[in-house]
Amino acid sequence: MTLLYYDPRFLDHDTGAHPEKARRLQQIVGHLEDTGLDAECVRPKWQPASREQLLRVHTPAHVDTVAAVAARGGGLLDPDTVASAASFDVARLAAGAACDAVARVLTGEAKTALCLVRPPGHHALANRAMGFCLLNNIAVAVRCAVEEHQLDRVMVVDWDVHHGNGTQDLFYADTRVGFLSIHRWPFYPGTGAADETGSGDGLGATRNVPVEFGTDRAQYRDLFRGSLEKFAERMRPQLVLVSAGFDSHHEDPIGSLGLEVEDFAELTSAVREVAAAHADGRIVSVLEGGYNPPVLAECVATHLRGLLSTDE
Ligand SMILES: [Zn+2]
Repeated sequence: MTLLYYDPRFLDHDTGAHPEKARRLQQIVGHLEDTGLDAECVRPKWQPASREQLLRVHTPAHVDTVAAVAARGGGLLDPDTVASAASFDVARLAAGAACDAVARVLTGEAKTALCLVRPPGHHALANRAMGFCLLNNIAVAVRCAVEEHQLDRVMVVDWDVHHGNGTQDLFYADTRVGFLSIHRWPFYPGTGAADETGSGDGLGATRNVPVEFGTDRAQYRDLFRGSLEKFAERMRPQLVLVSAGFDSHHEDPIGSLGLEVEDFAELTSAVREVAAAHADGRIVSVLEGGYNPPVLAECVATHLRGLLSTDE
């Protein structure tokens, strides 16, 4: 059984003519209905992230800025990142979904959860929005796991085509939070070189797997699985979170690392195996990028099928 988080309010983050648009989620949700996958999941109700939960990750000034820009009807938070009147509330709802999923998975309500949220989160830094991201959803969820549920070891696996610079930065010196990112490189946002491995007590708890454009799919999958298994051995996570971006698909207009839909079944199964080995199978997956809506919908369905099969 998988918990599936989705709310029509996520469509109210109105970005206008922008690749990170409401249509992405509409297409996903329609496809999950058509395939009957949504009916196999449980749909929890949840609360937006509280200010206290956001302040474990973000500065008060950042939270206040996003709220203020939304309150005056919206505007640009960075050259790529737009907010509308509803965006602050929608972003809090997105971060809240990830926190609720962590709570329910840790209390044993389900082994796996998929949060179909927007705006995405993994580029958001403590003190600023960037790369279509307002609040760092997965980082807020990690803090919930560590602060509210007292986990000692958590692992974030980020397979979005872009490096999860925000998440890396927030936990760079944190020995409890392992961060593994596989991404196109060199590419936006410029971080994620192999020699970025953490600092202080967190040295070794960050693992970057940069992949050059043109790398073949089999090689990508081998790199992912090999790095993930090794890193999970080191971290021995009690919970695995996934920053699930699908913009590495070859038809994605922004990312593209040449992946096909079925590759996401393999990535999911690699995550399932390490979660089963270390974390009693517990996985919380949070949507990040993916900008070709029909392709994104198929990729998400493939990922969800993999999560659903965890219980079999
Ligand atoms: Zn991305």
